Amino acid sequence: MGGSRISPELPAHLERLYGAFPFDRSLAQDPLGMIRPWATDLRSAETLGVLASVLAIGTTASIRTSIGRLLTIADGAPAALIEPDEAGRIARELRGFRHRWIRGDQIGTLLGRLADLAGTGRSLESVFSGGFEAGGFAEGLDALARALRGPEGSRTPPGYRALFPSPLDPSRSACKRLTLFVRWMRRTGYPDLGQWHRVPTGELRIPLDLHVYWIAYHLGLTRRRTRTWATVEEVTGALRRIDPRDPIRFDFVLCHTGISGDCPKRRDLAICGPCAVRPECRLWRGAR
Ligand code: SF4
Repeated sequence: MGGSRISPELPAHLERLYGAFPFDRSLAQDPLGMIRPWATDLRSAETLGVLASVLAIGTTASIRTSIGRLLTIADGAPAALIEPDEAGRIARELRGFRHRWIRGDQIGTLLGRLADLAGTGRSLESVFSGGFEAGGFAEGLDALARALRGPEGSRTPPGYRALFPSPLDPSRSACKRLTLFVRWMRRTGYPDLGQWHRVPTGELRIPLDLHVYWIAYHLGLTRRRTRTWATVEEVTGALRRIDPRDPIRFDFVLCHTGISGDCPKRRDLAICGPCAVRPECRLWRGAR
């Protein structure tokens, strides 16, 4: 069943959570903290950003470890990962790479796709924006996913194309990882990078990971019980009613409230007591 029902007080409670949030504490645990050193270098930020978003599975500690391995291979310069002269060495060094079910040969193929796009002078922003301007956010994400998968019929390692689902696929995936990448690149508000300019921030969509979905459901931002693109649209629509210009600014806070353990995802007065959104929380509604 769909339909969000936010209370009239939710915006104020959410703003309190946002206003008091320890951004720097959580940024130190987040993959984004490893991309920020290249915040003014579009090619490096796009290269490391898309790699980090593809690896955004599992704990933030394990994701940061895997990004660190790629940075070591790049000798600290992310753009080196897509230098044609470096391709042979990087492919050899990626042989033992593994992050959960993602293998080095898949990462090597992705780097080849990024190098091909760079060779044509196209940024990932131009790829996304082409789709966005033709249809909307889902079409932008679809264009990005198709560009990263590579031409239909081209040879890719097993499982490679499945790393880039599109909201237009029959599965109607929530596409958390590419949606997160777009947030990092587009939002100008801290801690995001603000390197992209062509998509209005009011048009961004929420990267709906398990933490964000849990709290969104418990705050009434959605009544849907599955994480699909329809749920992404519903949660985003509810947040847009609170901040039409920048609805996704709440994503980092909602996500890290779960990651940090600030939210135990159960009734625990010792932890929930000071929670700014407790009056809205499904687990506490009606309790004093
Ligand atoms: S009241 Fe507790 S369970 Fe509910 S959102 Fe806050 S910390 Fe999480």
